[in-house]
Amino acid sequence: MGKKVIIIGAGGVGNVVAKKCAMNPAYFSEVVLASRTLKKCEAIAEECKKIGLPTSVQTRQVDADDVPALVQLFNQEKPFMVINVALPYQDLTIMDACLATGVHYLDTANYEPKDVAKFEYSWQWAYQERFKKAGLMALLGCGFDPGVTGVYTAYANKHYFDEMHYLDIIDCNAGDHGKAFATNFNPEINIREITQKGKYWENGEWIEIDAMSIHKPISYPNIGPKESYLLYHEELESLVKNFPTIKRARFWMTFGQAYLTHLEVLQNVGMTSIHPIKFNGLDIVPLEFLKAVLPEPGTLGENYSGQTSIGCQIKGTKDNSEVTYYVYNNCHHADCYKEVQAQGVSYTTGVPAMIGASLMCEGVWFNPGVYNVEEFNPDPFMELLNIHGLPWHEEVNGELPHTY
Ligand code: NDP
Repeated sequence: MGKKVIIIGAGGVGNVVAKKCAMNPAYFSEVVLASRTLKKCEAIAEECKKIGLPTSVQTRQVDADDVPALVQLFNQEKPFMVINVALPYQDLTIMDACLATGVHYLDTANYEPKDVAKFEYSWQWAYQERFKKAGLMALLGCGFDPGVTGVYTAYANKHYFDEMHYLDIIDCNAGDHGKAFATNFNPEINIREITQKGKYWENGEWIEIDAMSIHKPISYPNIGPKESYLLYHEELESLVKNFPTIKRARFWMTFGQAYLTHLEVLQNVGMTSIHPIKFNGLDIVPLEFLKAVLPEPGTLGENYSGQTSIGCQIKGTKDNSEVTYYVYNNCHHADCYKEVQAQGVSYTTGVPAMIGASLMCEGVWFNPGVYNVEEFNPDPFMELLNIHGLPWHEEVNGELPHTY
C-alpha cells in the first residue's frame, strides 16, 4: 500500500520527481505537487495525464519561504512525507513545517543562506535531536551528486574495502542543448556553486584553492577525455565524516570552453554578484536578474543530445591488498526526454529522490533523525537504480578514468 507524498518545487527536477512518483503507485498512493507558481504545477500534472501515468497529480500553490503557509498545506493534505526539490534556501523552512506537522522530509541540496554563497550541512545537522524526538526522519542530499555518489561510496565500502583511502567523484556532462549559455539546474544555485573557492579534503583538513584553478582531462566511459575542474561539492563534507579512513576526497566536474568564457565575462561585468545594487530606485541582485534572462533548466530537454557520466573512483585496501574500484552511470539526455520530457541533469537528480522516498515510504530506509544517504544500507537503493532508469556499472581493479 503506497503512501501520500507532497513534492515542493515544479522546476526541472520537480517535473521528473512528480512523473516518477505518479508512475509508481505501489510506493506512492497520492501525489501532490506544490510550488510558488501554480501554473507550472498544472502544466506538469497535465503532461502526466497526457502520457497516461496511473496516478493523477494534484496541484497546490505554496510559498515555501513561509512556514505558516507550509504548515497549513501539510495539515490539509496530511502527507507521509515531503520531497523538497525547490531551492536550497527553502530547506530549513520546510524542515520546520515538517516538525510542526509530523511529516517526514527528503531533499537533494543542502541549505545555503541567500546572502552568503556558502553551503554546508551544519544548519540541517542541527535538526538531528528535534527530528529524533518527534519520531521523524529527514534524508539529506538524495539526488545524484549529492545522493547516488554517497550510495556508491557506501556500496564500495560495504562490498570491496576494509579501508577506503582515496575518493574522486567525477561528473561529466557531454551533452549539447544547442543554447549559447544555459545552466542544467537552477542558474542561481549553479553559478553560486562554481564561482566560490574550490576545496578538497586531504590528511584531515580542507585545502582551499582559487575557483576552477585545478583542472585536468579525465577519460569518461563511452565519452573520452574531457577537461574536468576541481570544485567543492557538498557530499565531500558528509562522506569524510561518515568514512573517516578517507585520506583524500575530491570532486571533479567538466565544463565546456564556451560555458567558461560566458561565465568569465558575466563575472567580470558583475552579473554574478549576490549583493544588491540600486537600479532605477529598486534593489536588484545581479545574479537573480541573470537567472531571469537565462533559459529555465526544465526547458532544455527537447533537443538535448549526448550523455552524462557520473561516478566514484576509490582506492583503498582489502585483506591488506590494494584495491581500485570505479562505479558509474551514463545517462542519455534524449532517453530522459522521451520518458519524462526532461534533460539528463534533472533526470539524474529526480530519479534518486523518488527512490529515496520510496525506501522511506516502505520503511526499508527508516530511522528517526537527520541522515545523509551513505548512513543507510546501499544495497536496496542500488537495486532500484537499475530498475528505475539509472543502471550502474562497476570495475574492480580495472583501469581508472582519473590517473592519480
Ligand atoms: P528550477 O529552478 O528548475 O526549479 C526550482 C523550483 O522551485 C521552481 O519551480 C521554483 O518556482 C520553485 N521555488 C523556488 N522558490 C520557491 C519558494 N519560495 N516556494 C515554492 N517554490 C519555490 O531548479 P531545478 O529543478 O533544476 O533544481 C531544483 C533543486 O534540485 C535545487 O535545489 C538544486 O540545487 C537541486 N539539484 C540537486 C542535484 C543533485 O544531484 N543533488 C542536481 C541538480 C539540482 P518558480 O518557478 O516560481 O521560480
